[in-house]
Amino acid sequence: MVAVLLLGAPDIQAQRAGQRAAASESKLATREAMRQLRSGGNAMDAAVTAALVGGVTSPTSSGIGGGGFAVVWDAAKKQAVVLDFRETAPKAIDTAAFEKRPFAWDQRGKYVGVPGEVAGLYAIHKRWGKRKWKDVVAPAARIATTGYKVGRHLGKALKAYQNKLAQDAGLARIFYPRGRPAPYGALLKNEALGKTLEAIAARGPKAFYEGDIAKDIVATTRGAGGALTLADLKAYQVKERKPLHKKWEGYDVHTMPAPSAGGMMLVQTLSLYKKAYLEKLGRKSGAYYHMLAESMRASVADRMRYVGDPDFAKFDMKKLTGDKRMAVRRQSLALDRTHGMPRFGLEEHGTHHLVTSDSSGNMVSLTTTVNRVFGAKLTTATSGIVLNDELDDFTPVAAVTPFGMTKSPNRPRPGARPVSSMTPTIVVQDGKAVLALGGSGGMTIATNVTQATLLRLAFGLSPRKVTASPRFAIPTRGAYLSLQKGEPEALRKDLTSRGEIVNVQTFDTHAIQMIAVEKGRKQAAGDARKHASASVE
Ligand code: GLU
Repeated sequence: MVAVLLLGAPDIQAQRAGQRAAASESKLATREAMRQLRSGGNAMDAAVTAALVGGVTSPTSSGIGGGGFAVVWDAAKKQAVVLDFRETAPKAIDTAAFEKRPFAWDQRGKYVGVPGEVAGLYAIHKRWGKRKWKDVVAPAARIATTGYKVGRHLGKALKAYQNKLAQDAGLARIFYPRGRPAPYGALLKNEALGKTLEAIAARGPKAFYEGDIAKDIVATTRGAGGALTLADLKAYQVKERKPLHKKWEGYDVHTMPAPSAGGMMLVQTLSLYKKAYLEKLGRKSGAYYHMLAESMRASVADRMRYVGDPDFAKFDMKKLTGDKRMAVRRQSLALDRTHGMPRFGLEEHGTHHLVTSDSSGNMVSLTTTVNRVFGAKLTTATSGIVLNDELDDFTPVAAVTPFGMTKSPNRPRPGARPVSSMTPTIVVQDGKAVLALGGSGGMTIATNVTQATLLRLAFGLSPRKVTASPRFAIPTRGAYLSLQKGEPEALRKDLTSRGEIVNVQTFDTHAIQMIAVEKGRKQAAGDARKHASASVE
């Protein structure tokens, strides 16, 4: 009964404790994830369903035209596993063209990487799923075909980006009926996508990476200046990677390794500060914000200098995050002094983070994206897929020159995966997963996940309180530190006295979703900033 009541409410924030839990940025995705859990599915089934449904109902943020990362806690094996299903550059990528971004509208196909979503979700299901593949895909196919109501985040995006989005014939047809943005609450359908999902349900990833759908993706991309081929699609591979691990205050933190730089920030920050020190500073103090911001700026500099696709760039993540290096770094950070970071453009805005957990103790923390709002703003001609613009995450030379470099470790290369900020994370205590979290919102993903992890592990806040707490960002241009609107003037003054250059930002595209275990029972929360939802039973 509880679940029914909660599901009926707008923007659910589950407060009850229970054994099964899900949180996502789409009400329908959360609902369908819970249905999987109730029907004998495990956390992995639920995550696959939620990712697919979210891709239908929040196409601003993610979908089968994109890709992502998952950290999975396998309770039976007591093991954290990372799957990387990030988009990949085509073999024939025009690397020189990437120095002259942004691409013209009719060349936006150049941004599109080989989508990894379908292969990644299939890999999760194949390894752990309990329900049939067709049954975990079916809800997304049904919702695409019969329709869903426009959520608040989608409604806002359709209005804000109308000029651009409505220029794409596929997006215009679905999201701009009679030339107007579909308003909040309106019923939308994407029947072509429904058919595509039905084919994937029946035939698995082959239906996507080969045959008519693959041909449609290639033709659409190439029609907009892209270099994708059928061979690129067929060659796509999910990569299993070793999680980045940090033991901190009795917790085992398992987070995302390269090609994400997000986990590096989290691990470096944990290495720099002990719980007692952070408690002493106090979570609302200028000193606390400042010391975290200093650690984060150093991590962003490491990202720019060293991190690339580990299959292409040479760097030693163990060394980068190692205790020795962090001890030296700690010496250079002080309460009364701020390091300026070279200014460079690195801005991102899309993405969907979801978390699921079942009664056997499995947890999934999965971040998926098409990169910016509606990705490349390019819809396939017949299969209804919104394609990603993930290759825009490759770093141009201009962004590393402020670091005294002539080449980025994250430069575009055939077959490479661009560096990401996505930070899916699972925390284990005494062999049991006690926290799953992650976020959306480009660069702020890593800074937000770091802050949220500390609010839980160092200060013991409930998921609901964590997601509702103010957060700060460290922009790469303009100010050094951005505060959320509504923070006290005294905090700004305190930060300024430490050398921080402070401004105020709205944080309505940055979300954190989280499940935490408290006395053996789970609590979940979705971030109200992006109208996310959570459910527990
Ligand atoms: N492309 C971004 C990344 O992987 C995520 C998209 C965004 O949130 O802006 O880090």
